[in-house]
Amino acid sequence: MVEELEKILKDSLIDAGASLVGFADIRELPSDVRRNLPVGITIACALRPEIVMQISDGPTKAYEAEYNRLNELLNTLGALGVSILENHGYRAVSLISTQSKLNRDTLATPLPQKTTARLAGLGWVGKCALLVTEEYGSAIRMNTVLTDAPLPVGTPIDESRCEKCDACVVICPAVAASGHDWKPGMDRAEFFDAFACYEEAKSTSRSRNIDATICGLCIAACPWTKKYIKRYNKKIKTD
Ligand code: SF4
Ligand code: SF4
Repeated sequence: MVEELEKILKDSLIDAGASLVGFADIRELPSDVRRNLPVGITIACALRPEIVMQISDGPTKAYEAEYNRLNELLNTLGALGVSILENHGYRAVSLISTQSKLNRDTLATPLPQKTTARLAGLGWVGKCALLVTEEYGSAIRMNTVLTDAPLPVGTPIDESRCEKCDACVVICPAVAASGHDWKPGMDRAEFFDAFACYEEAKSTSRSRNIDATICGLCIAACPWTKKYIKRYNKKIKTD
């Protein structure tokens, strides 16, 4: 029964535009941030490869449009997940539509999307504090649906797979990443300066007439993102 619901959710979300869907046991997180619900569903959408290829020099208007497109899509996918779960008699909340915007004092949200994604086994937290997936590198955006449906959950990834790579550390004009590997339970400030990143992204975006605060250099530089782009280029050559 729950396997059937898992399949319905996965198939429906992928058909509607999701790139990855994962299920996490989130009971280790404080009950207030997870609305007292035990399961988190991560919905991830990959940035279009042709857009990512253009941001090796910094953010572009096309990247901003893609960023906005994915935010809207993730909102729609979250609502779809909620409606499927509610139709099966479960409680469900889509975080992207309810979680207040980034707290400017902490530059953090109560339940970061990457936390659920990591617990679902979709990826690890890279040196640039982004979720890194084997399929799309860090070229993804995410939403989380919280629920009380007893869905089968993934195996958490508890170790960084960045190894000796430091591409995002070297490329960052703000020197935001210290180069230290993330570990479970580590405070973000111990390995990443979110304020330096934010200020850099804000000033670069403004200088390029981009309304969103985006940068993208570390996303494009990540070797896992590059593998995604390479697969895409190979595919269009053989199609
Ligand atoms: S988004 Fe830009 S400023 Fe922020 S960590 Fe990545 S490269 Fe640095
Ligand atoms: S660029 Fe390298 S160090 Fe940075 S997140 Fe990707 S794999 Fe990890």
